[in-house]
Amino acid sequence: KNQGKNTWAIYDSARDDSEAMLQRMTWRSRIAQALEQDLFELHFQGIYLTSDKMLSHIEALIRMRDLERSGHLIMPGQFIPIAEKSGQILDIDRWVIKECIEKLANDLSMPPLAINISGRTFDEPSLPLYIRKLLMERGVEPGRLIIELTETAAVSDIQDAQRFIESIHQSGCKVCLDDFGSGFSTFGYLKYLGVEILKIDGLFITGLHNNRDNQVFVKAMVDVAHGLGKITVAEYVEDEDTFRMVKKLGIDLVQGYNFGRPSKTLPK
Ligand code: C2E
Ligand code: MG
Ligand code: MG
Ligand code: MG
Repeated sequence: KNQGKNTWAIYDSARDDSEAMLQRMTWRSRIAQALEQDLFELHFQGIYLTSDKMLSHIEALIRMRDLERSGHLIMPGQFIPIAEKSGQILDIDRWVIKECIEKLANDLSMPPLAINISGRTFDEPSLPLYIRKLLMERGVEPGRLIIELTETAAVSDIQDAQRFIESIHQSGCKVCLDDFGSGFSTFGYLKYLGVEILKIDGLFITGLHNNRDNQVFVKAMVDVAHGLGKITVAEYVEDEDTFRMVKKLGIDLVQGYNFGRPSKTLPK
């Protein structure tokens, strides 16, 4: 799973733990090197209004340049889980925050930017402060920055998540609960997390037009979200059939290959 979606691995118990440990150590030093040598880069994917397909805002997604294979990019599923375990995620999250605030400061006509913050940093009070300080220094209106947190991370420690979200709100940024619905959790916790945006997990969206069960689930999620005054986003909208179903179910915003893949250049 840590290697991302659409991959598989052979499990061989003979080369189990020491092999895995070596792998982890190799990745850790790669991440350290990437931080030192500035090997990270951000790609951008548009998020659009369901009503007229106009650009609403943009999500920044991190990649790591591979020194061993020039021109090759390493996807976040490969290194984010390792960085979360090693604690290097704090430096990665800081790098992303800085890059994005810099971009917003340099381009006043740019739509709002959404960035992903790891749940690992919830108990890190310095992160919201870091965001606030940079926004002030660069004179960026805080409403132009959206912080995405995964549902799984938020539910794993509601109190920490709640505190974290509150301090993000004090800075004036909006918060989006990412991968919503994937955590097998009840809706009840939403009472404690005052997020503005719910991004329904792609698992429920892929092939939605052919999946009655998922249509029922998505409808329920949209009802709950709207009942609580929150905006809904569907990720993984890969084709027009899916888009039509998403629109029919009342989702406000869409993201996915049907509208554009993440790329180095900003979406229009
Ligand atoms: P996410 O935040 O849920 O991001 C959505 C992922 O779905 C992205 O994968 C994106 O490229 C992919 N995607 C977008 N549209 C489609 C589609 O129509 N079909 C399919 N099959 N996939 C689509 P990516 O870039 O590999 O990122 C994976 C995850 O890594 C992200 O999931 C996020 O949790 C994490 N991540 C990405 N960038 C960062 C970052 O800067 N910091 C942290 N902490 N985590 C990050
Ligand atoms: Mg996200
Ligand atoms: Mg997501
Ligand atoms: Mg996802």
